[in-house]
Amino acid sequence: METSGQQFIAGKRRSGTSGERYEVTNPATGEVLATDTLAGPEDVDEAVAAARAVFAEWSRTTPAERSEAMLRWADQLEARAEEFARAESRIGGKPIRLASGFDIPGSIDNVRFFAGAARHLEGRASAEYSGEHTSTIRREPIGVIGSIAPWNYPLQMAAWKVLPAVAAGNTVVLKPSELTPLTSVMFAEAAQEAGIPDGVVNIVTGSGPVAGQALVTHPDIAMVSFTGSTAVGRQVAAQAAGLAKRVHLELGGKAPFVVFDDADLEATARGAVAGALINAGQDCTAATRAYVQRPVYEAFVARVAELMDGVRLGPVDDPATDMGSLISLRQRDKVAAMVENAREAGATIVRGGRIPDGPLGRGAYYEPTLITDAAQDSAIVQQEIFGPVLVCLPFDSDDDALRLANDTPYGLAASAWTSNVFRAGRASREIQAGCVWINDHIPIISEMPHGGYKASGFGKDMSVYSFDEYTNVKHVMSENTGVPHKSWHDTVFTSR
Ligand code: NAD
Repeated sequence: METSGQQFIAGKRRSGTSGERYEVTNPATGEVLATDTLAGPEDVDEAVAAARAVFAEWSRTTPAERSEAMLRWADQLEARAEEFARAESRIGGKPIRLASGFDIPGSIDNVRFFAGAARHLEGRASAEYSGEHTSTIRREPIGVIGSIAPWNYPLQMAAWKVLPAVAAGNTVVLKPSELTPLTSVMFAEAAQEAGIPDGVVNIVTGSGPVAGQALVTHPDIAMVSFTGSTAVGRQVAAQAAGLAKRVHLELGGKAPFVVFDDADLEATARGAVAGALINAGQDCTAATRAYVQRPVYEAFVARVAELMDGVRLGPVDDPATDMGSLISLRQRDKVAAMVENAREAGATIVRGGRIPDGPLGRGAYYEPTLITDAAQDSAIVQQEIFGPVLVCLPFDSDDDALRLANDTPYGLAASAWTSNVFRAGRASREIQAGCVWINDHIPIISEMPHGGYKASGFGKDMSVYSFDEYTNVKHVMSENTGVPHKSWHDTVFTSR
């Protein structure tokens, strides 16, 4: 793992030029993994110029050429999978089992999916719709894409942002979170090793207000693709709107987890614990609000508490560790403060709600936390916590369950648990979210889209739907009668 130089611009690794030094640390231990200088506006200018310079060449490659290059890219990643997993685990404070079993294989599968999808751009059939013209559809790359990613799944977020753009013939400047740049730079290096031309994938590691801002407002950035919090997404969208710039937003979430009284209780309790604690709860689709039908409520809460007791916190490189640390001490303290406020507002902390004792307490660890007796309109139920915290609340009727599930500003993901096909059908229709799982929560696949409703944003990552974000659709209409006076000319002047 190379730790110096967290910019990758025009195929070269180097430091930023802002003059502002920063450290990338392992949040589980505080160990410094890299020390570097952040990108400033000049680095963004250089990266955008590099992406612009190679756009004509890359956008004119055939789909098959792009596909073959991307398949080699996937092979490069696979050959270095262990190195990627170790780096991803350390920068994110995440257990090695999660990094090597989910983050890295998921990203490699995404590269292979988009290598195939590059050859399947779709449009309407060419035809003589007017009778006198042949209409054809072209799907064209947009230009240089400015992408901004969060820290929670650094490699997967880089993959989701970069792959559909590059597969469609665009070039990209990606700004990862300055907390977690290492694997994004390795990802771009692997593209170079696979023979993808320098400048197609550039990484600028800088702060949001400096490098992020410079990217969003850069005149040569044709589109901004942003994944992060709803608050920052709104600022980015406002700036892009002022410049009439295309924008794609993947924002925060507060996923409901609806348990009907006919669900398999053991499967549901296991799903809730895994869905709430994956990546220490720092997952935009994590199960955060369990609404449980009253007859099974107590049994559900008891079993979830019991399962949470068995979750092992530990060093991230230990394969026995189930849950790692949060991304930073700051994030841990934010989660702790939200739980404390909920306690003061009358909620019951059934499990956790503490920073662990001993050595783990010096890292950004926080105990798996189960909360009951919170009010539906309280902050712990309404706001994104982004930590290992599950709130459980009872409901009586199906109408109540679906109303409560939809009662936050967010709409990214949700799940409904039932053995009744009609309840499952109703939940999947009526829950306002980009993904509704039935009898599961969390799995994603490259072939299917991921994206939000409501304050969770708009547009899709993954799947062929993401090509709608990263391509312009052009209608080419060719007159094919060859006569000088066309029939529609009669609306202006008649033939004489
Ligand atoms: P964040 O909004 O603080 O930062 C996201 C990115 O935006 C970072 O790279 C940051 O440096 C940059 N940024 C900050 N201010 C900026 C500005 N003014 N202009 C341009 N860029 C700026 O989010 P985070 O804390 O890194 O990540 C957590 C959030 O991401 C959560 O809300 C989570 O739900 C969301 N998320 C959403 C998805 C999804 O697919 N919908 C996926 C992962 C994470």
